[in-house]
Amino acid sequence: MLFGHAPHNMRMDRHGRVVALLDATGTFFEPSRTAFPGADEADWARAALLDPDAAGPDGAWLLDFRCFAIARPGGRWVLVDAGVGPAQGPAAGWAPVPGRLPAVLAAAGISAADVETVVLTHLHEDHAGWSAGADGQPFFPAARYVVQRAEVAALDRADPVYGWTVAPLRASGQLHEVDGHHRLGRGITLLPTPGHTPGHQSVLVEQDGGGPDGARDVLVTGDVLVHAVQLGNPAVPYSHERDRAAARASREDLLARAVERGALLATAHLTRPFVEPG
Ligand SMILES: [Zn+2]
Repeated sequence: MLFGHAPHNMRMDRHGRVVALLDATGTFFEPSRTAFPGADEADWARAALLDPDAAGPDGAWLLDFRCFAIARPGGRWVLVDAGVGPAQGPAAGWAPVPGRLPAVLAAAGISAADVETVVLTHLHEDHAGWSAGADGQPFFPAARYVVQRAEVAALDRADPVYGWTVAPLRASGQLHEVDGHHRLGRGITLLPTPGHTPGHQSVLVEQDGGGPDGARDVLVTGDVLVHAVQLGNPAVPYSHERDRAAARASREDLLARAVERGALLATAHLTRPFVEPG
């Protein structure tokens, strides 16, 4: 693998029809060396080249909390993940709330009513925050919310995301559970990538290739990798992965797939939205 700096244009907020939406930035509740046990000095040196802004003072891990919107015909959108959410949301215990997603969507010209699908990569607090509001009303009134059936099945009913996300979306008829590989629409495919959570999924966005902007395919990873230390060395585990072996296998598979098709990665937590897979 090559570990160069991403070209300058990889810092932009849009690649083809994929728009990065930064909900929040913050400091993780554990130092980076606690969060990534087993990473060695060479791994950290590589990570510092791949994502220098993730290294904070005293070993702190500085991270972004990002969603992505994918343009669909007719001014409609697919949103991937729903951020940390409002001040009352389930992420408030550890993530930097409130997020700014409503304002960021408005600035991008995306109305909540024009979001036809919300893909939840997994049911963690920092990815489901804007799924519904404190009043229990779905934040995206016309959207199907698509999540893996295995993810819902594994979620404890006492988990705050159950009450914040699963229950209200079920009540409104907007929760759409799928099994495994799933074609969402033209050029948008859900890929099961278990390990971080049991029903974690990622999203492959095929761009038409050779278009005027020469946009490349994009793999929206979700939390298959949460830090550049796992990009430089996919064998490095994250302390909050449910199943480390499965998470590593999903990470290695997804990175290999991205390299093979020349796709960019779109990550939730690195400090830049689009990165090279290797
Ligand atoms: Zn996350």
